[in-house]
Amino acid sequence: PAAGDGTLLGALDPDQRAAASVTSGPLLIIAGPGTGKTRTLTHRIAHLVATGTARPEECLAVTFTRRAAQEMQERLAALVPDAADRITVTTFHGLGLRIVREQAARLGLGETVGIADEAGRLALLADLLGENRRSEARKALEAVSAAKRARALGEAPPPDAAELLDQYDKALRARDQVDFDDLITIPVRLLGSDLELAAAYRARYPWISVDEYQDVDELQYRLLRLLTAPDANLCAIGDPDQAIYRFRGADVGFFLRFQQDFPTARVVQLTRNYRSAARIVAGALQAIAPTTLVRDRRLEAVRADDQHTVVGRYEAANEQDEAEFVVRTIDALLGGSSFHSFDSGAVETFAGHGRLSFADIAVLYRTDAQAQPLLEAFARAGMPCEKRAHTRLTDRLEITELARRVGEVYASSPGPVTGALRTAVQLAIDDTEVSLAWADTPTEERVSRLRAAADLLAPLAERCGTDLDRFQAELALGVEIDTWDPRADRISLLTLHAAKGLEFPVVFLVGCEDGLLPLRWPGSAGSPNEQDEEEIREERRLFFVGMTRAQSCLYLSYARERTRQGTRRAVQPSPFLRAIDTSLVTPLGSAREKPRNRVRQLRLL
Ligand code: ATP
Ligand code: MG
Repeated sequence: PAAGDGTLLGALDPDQRAAASVTSGPLLIIAGPGTGKTRTLTHRIAHLVATGTARPEECLAVTFTRRAAQEMQERLAALVPDAADRITVTTFHGLGLRIVREQAARLGLGETVGIADEAGRLALLADLLGENRRSEARKALEAVSAAKRARALGEAPPPDAAELLDQYDKALRARDQVDFDDLITIPVRLLGSDLELAAAYRARYPWISVDEYQDVDELQYRLLRLLTAPDANLCAIGDPDQAIYRFRGADVGFFLRFQQDFPTARVVQLTRNYRSAARIVAGALQAIAPTTLVRDRRLEAVRADDQHTVVGRYEAANEQDEAEFVVRTIDALLGGSSFHSFDSGAVETFAGHGRLSFADIAVLYRTDAQAQPLLEAFARAGMPCEKRAHTRLTDRLEITELARRVGEVYASSPGPVTGALRTAVQLAIDDTEVSLAWADTPTEERVSRLRAAADLLAPLAERCGTDLDRFQAELALGVEIDTWDPRADRISLLTLHAAKGLEFPVVFLVGCEDGLLPLRWPGSAGSPNEQDEEEIREERRLFFVGMTRAQSCLYLSYARERTRQGTRRAVQPSPFLRAIDTSLVTPLGSAREKPRNRVRQLRLL
């Protein structure tokens, strides 16, 4: 520990520094988007280590994604170079895997216990169900997962699900495998029933920090409680107004009752937004105001508006027109040939970001299907882009197929994982004995999906060097967004869920329509009024998350007609747009107007 605390906390503002200086007892940092929560958390850990308050081995930081963990580890490496690799930065599932592996012997598992992928679990359940009920495997998978989670929470699952669960777990263990749910449920049951073991883990990690605490679910919460005494040095950071994983079981209630759970907790608010220009902050605050979960929510923009700042609004004829709007605007922003919104000098120093590039631009949307017209428009325009969602990597056949083959290639000649991955792609492509799961897929599609998967996995393989075990764990625990590289020079196409915690100079939030924001699946029963109110509140939070990713330019667009699931329908603008004062929003035209008008208005930018 060389650096004094002066240098480490010097990079923080007074409120952030006050939060980071709380080095003992429970601490809740509650703050809006872009206020430096993640930054404060990282500096706080570095400070703890640099001042000798905590040993690096005693610090555990839990992030929401593997990618966020990786980024935090890199930041720590820059702040406390000698100690960073001894600090544990991981996700709840990564932590769970660590505990499962450490306790493998008493669980009757091998130390290299593997994680079953979705295809494997489905096949296993299909076998258990028997020939006549094979088609029920997917439903059974959900039932088994729900039963497992219920049991870990001390609830009794339905008897038939419980029986199937027992058979399923037995078969899984026979293969020396656990599933994704096990990574949390096993540690919860183990530490919940063995107080000595729980005490040992508490002693190992006396300093625990959790980012994005508003999105923990009940099992993660139980695990955390088992790892912390009520007066523990637990630092939880988050923003209730950015709670967006309720559909997956997250519960913002755990955030809201932190002070009951940890009665001696200090509560610190951060109120200065460093990310977005003033106009974007103002618009976002108006958007969330009707249902904010934070009493006297304060958020002041540090960044004044400048000549680049825009909150724009565009009404498209349909999704193709919307995609063309995005392409045109990007072209204009980058100083392309068709339009000139900035003189070249301004482009060079775009709002302090230096020259604007594709990497500075993100297009965000509610549903994965919305990416298609955008991908096509970018392809036509020759603009590089990459699409990421928050879906689990091993849910995709081509990825599990490649992973299996990488394992085989590596076993026959151990070396760098990247090498095995190349080879594995070729083997998978050449193989004429297509595995059953691929049987209905045309060869051409299979080849292109395998190639795309290899591209996706290449950076991950690179990071893992010669460590195959790490590669496989990263894959098993990873979601698509984990393979996203912020430095690559291409436009990011992201679902709103995947964009959590990220920031971009330019953000397009497309599909701001009733039915997409808030989301309703076409043909689903019930009128908008009957939609669950809490669900709509969560959709508004998603909209808020999307808006607050933008640093300088935010474009909100919607179409008058959209095709969803094969049917074209007339659609209305999102009701969330109405909350934003029109004086903040620059109309960038509508497809109703003649194109000439649009050119002029874009120039006004
Ligand atoms: P979110 O809610 O979206 O996760 P956050 O609160 O975690 O946001 P950060 O991502 O940590 O915010 O910070 C947002 C941006 O503001 C980052 O670019 C960060 O470097 C910058 N920032 C934060 N604090 C300061 C500061 N004191 N001085 C300068 N820049 C800062
Ligand atoms: Mg953050």
